[in-house]
Amino acid sequence: MSDCLFCGIAAGEIPAKTVRESSRAIAFRDINPQAPAHVLVIPRAHYANLAELAAAGDGLLDEVATLAAAVAADEGVADGGYRVVFNTGPDAGQTVHHVHAHLLGGRPLEWPPG
Ligand code: AMP
Ligand code: ZN
Repeated sequence: MSDCLFCGIAAGEIPAKTVRESSRAIAFRDINPQAPAHVLVIPRAHYANLAELAAAGDGLLDEVATLAAAVAADEGVADGGYRVVFNTGPDAGQTVHHVHAHLLGGRPLEWPPG
């Protein structure tokens, strides 16, 4: 999608601090981190939200989740714990409509979130 920020990052047209990649997904640091470890994991292809990604099938959602777990290990938060969040829709505050998993860790995380 030509006017999508995260499509631009996936294409290498918009700079990002990439931390890990797989064939169909990419992980990069959030520009406004909310925790010591805050990484976004996206499919390279454009899907607007989690429902669209899940409907894509072919293991793509698994690949995003697997990449998130690998990043958690890289970031040193796998044992201490971390959170993976797909903000979906206006009530959840989704601002970028290219599906992304937030990986957050490195500090105690409150539950429930605000
Ligand atoms: P959400 O509100 O769940 O849609 O999350 C969008 C996230 O994208 C926010 O946490 C932003 O800080 C982050 N973000 C926006 N622009 C960029 C960018 N150019 N590079 C990295 N992260 C970004
Ligand atoms: Zn996109």
